[in-house]
Formats: sequence, C-alpha cells, structure tokens
Amino acid sequence: MKAMILERPGEALRAAELPDPRPGPGQLQVAVSACGVCRTDLHVVDGDLTEPKLPIVPGHEIVGRVSALGDGVENFDLGQRVGIPWLGHTCGHCRYCASGDENLCDEPGFTGYQIDGGYAEKTVADAAYCFPLPGDQSDAELAPLLCAGLIGYRSLVMAGESSKKLGIYGFGAAAHIVAQVATYQGREIYAFTSPGDTTAQQFARDMGAVWAGDSSAASPVELDAAIIFAPVGPLVPAALRAVRKGGIVVCGGIHMSDIPAFPYGILWGERVLRSVANLTRQDAIDFLELAPKVPVKTEIQEFPLAEANQALTALRSGNLSGAAVLIP
Ligand SMILES: [Zn+2]
Ligand SMILES: [Zn+2]
Repeated sequence: MKAMILERPGEALRAAELPDPRPGPGQLQVAVSACGVCRTDLHVVDGDLTEPKLPIVPGHEIVGRVSALGDGVENFDLGQRVGIPWLGHTCGHCRYCASGDENLCDEPGFTGYQIDGGYAEKTVADAAYCFPLPGDQSDAELAPLLCAGLIGYRSLVMAGESSKKLGIYGFGAAAHIVAQVATYQGREIYAFTSPGDTTAQQFARDMGAVWAGDSSAASPVELDAAIIFAPVGPLVPAALRAVRKGGIVVCGGIHMSDIPAFPYGILWGERVLRSVANLTRQDAIDFLELAPKVPVKTEIQEFPLAEANQALTALRSGNLSGAAVLIP
C-alpha cells in the first residue's frame, strides 16, 4: 500500500510503499477513503510532541471501510463505513480508566502518533476504538468530525452548559464545527482571529458567529466562556480578560506556546482556566449522535495523499478555510 511516513521530526513526510497492515485479534483492517489533517499532525511532524513511534504513519481523522476482520471482532461487518479517532488504546486499569476518564489514561496509544494512522491506503485499529459512520455525508466531509469535531465538542462541554455568550479564539477546523453545534444549542459565538485575518472572520460569520474580529481587540461583550483553539499562549490572558466572573476559559489544543505572566486579578472572581486532553469513547458516541441533528456541515479542502506535505504547509501558514482532507 501507499503511505506517507514521518521518519524524523522536523523533516518532510516521505512517500513509501508498505505491506498491507494485518489486523490482529480484536482489530479491524480499514481501507482508508479520507483522512483529515489535524493541527496535532503538525505538532507531531514538527517535533513539538516528543513521543512518536518512528517511523510513523500520521493521521487520526480516518474514514474508511472495513476490509478485514481480526479474530473475535463481532460488532462490525466487512464493507461497513467506520471512523477512527485519536484515542486508539487505553490500559483499562489505571485510576483514570477506572473512573471513566480514559482520555487521561496513564498508558494510552494515540492514532497517528504511537499507532500508525490514516495517511495511507490502509490501516488497522482496535475495533473497540472505532465508530460506525452511517448516513449519507461524504467520507471526506465526515473526516474532520473525528478529531476537530470531537475535541471541539469536548471543549464545548467543558465550557459549561449555561455559557450562552461564547468566545472562540482561532477559527479553523475545530472552531467551524463548534460554532455550528453551539449555535444549534442557542448560544452566541464571538470569533477572535489573528489581527487582520478578514477571511477567517468572514468564515466565522458564515458559520453562525454573531461577531468576528481581531484577537488583539477587546471583546464587544462580556463572555460567559471562551475556547482557545489557536496554539498561542498570549491568548490565555486575553480570554481571561474577556470572560465574566465565574467564567471558564478552555484550552482545546494539545500544544501551545508559553503563556505570558499575567496579573492575578484577571483570574480572580472564580474564573476557571482549564485544558482539554484527548477524548473518551463516550465523547465520540455523544458527538456522532448529535452532529447529524445540527446538522454539522464541514468546509473541506481535498488533497491527494501524495500531497500530504503541501496540506500540512497550508495548515501551518493558515491558508485554509476549514479543514484539509487527504484522499488516498
Ligand atoms: Zn488507563
Ligand atoms: Zn487531532
């Protein structure tokens, strides 16, 4: 099979011809039809995340069809459309797994990081971490739901059910999905982008934002909560300044530049600052049930698998509206 592999962080991906991966007990072999390009892939490729298996096939927003079943797999059929997310394995016995917080597992395995992912024609995954994807949306349109959608949804839940005026900092793949879900739930979205990025601001308004403007400007209203998707530390004090007393600031990314020192006064008033790490399988079940009701429509830009490096470059430079999706 054809695959794009990372041999050393900091280098470009290399096109490779690999043997088809074979499903072990409890695993599915999946013929990949679309794989989204997530900012986390950039952090893996650039070496910001320091524990990759090498070489690794990146990619954890995978949509495909079951092409072979490992021993003992009962819940899936050959040919069935499935999605494979970032969470690829948990230990099942650490204190976090035992308490339902499997996203914090002490010995996790992540797709496209420690487990070969979807920048390939085929992949294998533990069936227990795969999700059926019924419905008639195209494979490419569904791919961004598998991480941008899931992490965005978990971030939205962490922002609090009663948070009506919601700020979003960084308006890319995750934000454009969250904005649709939040608007469906009756919330108001205030979108903050890089100063002068009028394209992203217009995109935010198209996705339902009631206001969009520069992150360097003060918020036009007092926010109940804010979600930061851009990996930019200085946005943390900016968001804390924008939320009301008791307001919540959620950092949705896996990596962020350093947060500058800030006065205690902007955290005072029982404001809450928290991160969101990974996802649980329950998040996936909840979100994949909700998404068709909204219905979430994703804005995508397709690239052939062989152009994975170009897709990563486009994401890095901010030259994408919505999500890049690789098509093998
Ligand atoms: Zn665990
Ligand atoms: Zn991701």
